[in-house]
Amino acid sequence: MEDASKEYYAAVIIHEAIHAYFRTHSGNDEEIEGMDHERMAINCIDPTAHFLKELYGISYVDASALEWRTVMQNDAYQVATNFQVYDGSNVVS
Ligand SMILES: [Zn+2]
Repeated sequence: MEDASKEYYAAVIIHEAIHAYFRTHSGNDEEIEGMDHERMAINCIDPTAHFLKELYGISYVDASALEWRTVMQNDAYQVATNFQVYDGSNVVS
């Protein structure tokens, strides 16, 4: 990951902070079978992509792609054939 962009580093840091938030608020010390990533894929892509967009002045599509990259091991990502990026456009994989 040493060759990754600062935007991707930020996406990973946000991702890990969300894990910490889930651990703190769920009462479980460990994630249950990928549930954190599933929850992130459903609830966190849009707000975190907006944050990255504003922080670095990158496009919303690029910011969304960085956020999806952090949860690409989950079932929602694995079975998806397209990704709604919430701004009305649709990116087909
Ligand atoms: Zn994770």
